Amino acid sequence: MRRTLLIAGGAIAILLAGAWFVTLSPNVDVWLYRKMAAHMIDRPAPQLAQPGELSVLLCGTGSPLPDPNRASGCALVAAGDRLYVVDAGLSSVRNLLLWHIPLEKIDGVLLTHFHSDHIAELGELRLQTWGAGRRTPLKVYGPPGVADVVAGFNQAYSHDADYRTLHHGEKFLPREVVDMVAVTIPMNGATAPVLDDGGLKVTAIKVHHDPVKPAYGYRFDFDGRSVTISGDTAYYEPLAVAARGSDVLVHEAQSNELVGILGSVMTEAGRTRAAKIMHDIPDYHTTPVDAARIANLAGAKLLVFTHINPPLPNFLAERAFLRGVSDVRPDGWLLGRDGTLIRLPGHSEAIEETTME
Ligand SMILES: [Zn+2]
Ligand SMILES: [Zn+2]
Repeated sequence: MRRTLLIAGGAIAILLAGAWFVTLSPNVDVWLYRKMAAHMIDRPAPQLAQPGELSVLLCGTGSPLPDPNRASGCALVAAGDRLYVVDAGLSSVRNLLLWHIPLEKIDGVLLTHFHSDHIAELGELRLQTWGAGRRTPLKVYGPPGVADVVAGFNQAYSHDADYRTLHHGEKFLPREVVDMVAVTIPMNGATAPVLDDGGLKVTAIKVHHDPVKPAYGYRFDFDGRSVTISGDTAYYEPLAVAARGSDVLVHEAQSNELVGILGSVMTEAGRTRAAKIMHDIPDYHTTPVDAARIANLAGAKLLVFTHINPPLPNFLAERAFLRGVSDVRPDGWLLGRDGTLIRLPGHSEAIEETTME
């Protein structure tokens, strides 16, 4: 008993001393902040791909519905030292900054289509790549219409760029390189070549997201490895043809069953406008089970679900979302999350999955 009292007394004394140290000791807050700042800042930029390696990092796996755990549409594809961003949805650039991605090294942006959840942070990406040291205009590839989108963002952010060049100096932030340059990808068939850069071949794929026309997915081929990103699409077998033999298929997924439940709860709550949207969206997205069918048709080794809709607050919701997938595709799939990084080493069959911290 006496021994227990002594231990408890000692613990209380230590707690009181700690409380005194934190609240009364001068400059402890600044000392602690210095420690935290070193932890936040002093991190090397992650190496997303080794020479000869292809990788895809999911920087946004959500949809337009607010999800505290997912940014909207974004994927970062690295091929050796080449770096391309596919879409820049809400909060995606924040993810890239938090992960210390070397934004000045981004070679270009590929837009799948111009729904807001895929372009909302294009202005932020323009700014942050410039602030990080980009020295050439940022190329933005996309379907016809991309010139309007890029011109609009350039105009909307022009005052911001003026202020920053004035404030930090022309040498540090040269005004003439801040803007983005649109590159329209014409589509006359099922696919269209986009670029061939350092051995990385990018192909645009027509997908089915009516009334958004045309809407694209993208296929990346590098050193014998390949990744296809679906963009937003309903179930569309020509996508499987274009993605044939991909190591990884990153495919959008929406549970219409869960969207239907959300819609009826919204109706009961009198939120008729939101309910109308839930009613309208099933016809231009793909269910997880149908995405699995597309992955099977394509012969993809790994299927990664992205553009997760509706938001999944816990593992039970995830289980409901994924119900039936295993019946169609017993393995070779995973639920993508912000920070999921898939590596495809060159001259190998390996598919390595990790997570950004
Ligand atoms: Zn869309
Ligand atoms: Zn979308």
